[in-house]
Amino acid sequence: MNREMDKCIRCGSNFKIEKHHIVHRVNGGTDDIENKEPRCRHCHKYQHAKELLIDNISRYADRLRYGDFSRDYYIRKLKLEIDRLDILMKNNTVKLIKSRGYYSYWNDIATHFTNKSTDIVPVEDYTGLDIKGKELW
Ligand SMILES: [Zn+2]
Ligand SMILES: [Zn+2]
Repeated sequence: MNREMDKCIRCGSNFKIEKHHIVHRVNGGTDDIENKEPRCRHCHKYQHAKELLIDNISRYADRLRYGDFSRDYYIRKLKLEIDRLDILMKNNTVKLIKSRGYYSYWNDIATHFTNKSTDIVPVEDYTGLDIKGKELW
């Protein structure tokens, strides 16, 4: 197996390449080359943001499927996460996230989901890297 590990598989940039674990280490993913793909910093964060939203959506969908309480609550949560995923994928970037008053990358999104706070809102402004990995700050 000969994979190009110095170019982002999503955008082709060779700027700030990181190794993404396809099966996350927390889920038993290995450090083998087969489980890693090169992503530029931006596309790496994008991928994690997308995975977090999809995880949340399936969790809330499960609650609706198996639980018969708090229906409205989970429908609301589900709609919010689907909207966020829609925004993320439409804009093709993680840069449209504002958390607790400051613009943030996926690390802050991860914190947000861990803390179960609800104060992330999509904003027009952005920070960070553009899609080709060019640094914007
Ligand atoms: Zn990339
Ligand atoms: Zn990763």
